[in-house]
Amino acid sequence: FFIAIEGGDGAGKSTQVEAIAEWIRAKGHEVVVTREPGATAIGKRLRSILLDVGSTGISHRAEALLYAADRAEHVDSVVRPALERGAIVISDRYIDSSVAYQGAGRDLDPVEIARISRWATGGLVPHLTVLLDVSPETARERFTEAPDRLESEPAEFHERVRKGFLALAAADPSRYLVVDAGQEPEAVSRTVRHRLDELLPL
Ligand code: C5P
Repeated sequence: FFIAIEGGDGAGKSTQVEAIAEWIRAKGHEVVVTREPGATAIGKRLRSILLDVGSTGISHRAEALLYAADRAEHVDSVVRPALERGAIVISDRYIDSSVAYQGAGRDLDPVEIARISRWATGGLVPHLTVLLDVSPETARERFTEAPDRLESEPAEFHERVRKGFLALAAADPSRYLVVDAGQEPEAVSRTVRHRLDELLPL
């Protein structure tokens, strides 16, 4: 079973990934927690290129392809092997991040970005995508660990990214859980646990 956790910076993804993983592990399942970009050796190098150069030091298409390359390596060497041995995989970001950031956020066509990711992953789609939706104001209050990352893009960019994520969820509601991530972390986790209880015999 493959779960992707998506959302903008400051939505609280890493907190939720850990909370959900702990909850599933306590029920006796193997859980593999992973992330994009940067879960593999190649991915770590790509992540440092992507974060070092920022959005101004690379062409948008090249940036999109590096994220896709990270994802191809990630799926091939981490996600598929774990799913094949029956583990539950939780990924902090997946295809939707590219569609939202490189597509909706920048000037690239989100449909083409999705197509590149589909090719990169051999069509691997999560069983459930949890979208942690957060307002830009809350995100700014929360994202104190790397404020420069948030500030490196104008507010409109983050607004487009947010709308990009919400549009993906609206297009396929049965595969998405959209949670108001402005709530307390425990309330967010409770909502996710409830959905997983329905989907999985845990
Ligand atoms: O979620 P994480 O902090 O690992 O993401 C690193 C940075 O990469 C974030 O600041 C995010 O804005 C950016 N990113 C991006 N496009 C993606 C994934 C992440 O611009 N597809």
